[in-house]
Amino acid sequence: MSLEQLIELSRLYGSNPQWVLAGGGNTSVKIKNTLYVKASGTTLADASEATFVKMDRKKLAAVLKKEYPAEPAERESQALQDLLDARAEGQELRPSVETLMHELLPFTFVIHTHPPMVNGITCSQQAEQAARTVFGDEVVWIPNVNPGLILATTIRDAIKEYKTQHGTPPWLVLLQNHGLVVAGDTPEEILARHRDVASRVKAHITRFPELDTVPYDGRQAETLAYQIARAADELVPGTPDHQAVFICNREVFRHVRSAKAFTPLSRAFSPDHIVYAGHRIPFLTQTDDFGAELAAVRRELEDFLRETGRIPPVVAREGLGVFITGRNRRMMDAAAALFLDAVQIAVYTQAFGGEAFLPPEQTDFILNWEVERFRTRVSAGE
Ligand SMILES: [Zn+2]
Repeated sequence: MSLEQLIELSRLYGSNPQWVLAGGGNTSVKIKNTLYVKASGTTLADASEATFVKMDRKKLAAVLKKEYPAEPAERESQALQDLLDARAEGQELRPSVETLMHELLPFTFVIHTHPPMVNGITCSQQAEQAARTVFGDEVVWIPNVNPGLILATTIRDAIKEYKTQHGTPPWLVLLQNHGLVVAGDTPEEILARHRDVASRVKAHITRFPELDTVPYDGRQAETLAYQIARAADELVPGTPDHQAVFICNREVFRHVRSAKAFTPLSRAFSPDHIVYAGHRIPFLTQTDDFGAELAAVRRELEDFLRETGRIPPVVAREGLGVFITGRNRRMMDAAAALFLDAVQIAVYTQAFGGEAFLPPEQTDFILNWEVERFRTRVSAGE
């Protein structure tokens, strides 16, 4: 088994939006005492030898056995330091925050992705019950917990219990409001297991998203895009360079009919949706009063800015569609991709009792992380 095979698998899943988007997901291969895991901040689509971090597996095992303080900030900073110290000599990149999960699954290859169809289960009301219906006792279900060390220890305990009950380790893990983990000993096994997961979920889906284009009022969209961008410029000091781009399709249009119809898209499904598309999506109601519309745009942007320290990446407008805002094309593309991913998830959840968002506790946890990251980016002049 080789790093080259892992690179090939990473590119395969990383370049297909039906498995993962933007910087989401992570992969690993175990070669004797070494674990090669995706470096944080890299994308699977661009996987190469340089995007993996070489980890010492003995040191990772020690992290999993260690007792940490109960206080969250202290616990996470110690665990992060131990993770960095578990790198092989000369390694400088930061390993994925989910590295310990990779060490815990006793298979050569571990592939973690965020497929919208599978998230139709993990972000649904039925959640675990739906996972059991679709995958029987092959799946290990991990409920919503904070990422980092707590997620790792939850997975450790769940795998241990699975082994006690079944005598074999699990190859399939579903993370609530997050995604999929598939493990296997050969690339062929990995490919076959992903095909199996996709076809089993597909058999339960009751409606597929309709992502074809629909006609819209281009002039109105253009005017509002301009107003949103200018309002953002006014609220954020610095270079006035915000942009707002309009997007719509049949499924989006269906959801912007009213605030009620938009409910399934109003909040974030998973950590990546928070990071790229925002923890919630402001909804502007339809009005013919131009002044009132401007005031509403400004108020919505201001509220979001106060909550998170940034302009909302996505803003919805009743009867029209959504606007992607930002000042960096790459971030705007990611926001659009993650929003359209959420649209698909919302439709898929209809087969499993309807949508269920990431709970407030986990949302706040991620938001605080993200705010820190965002502050760092701002101070770096990005
Ligand atoms: Zn993930």
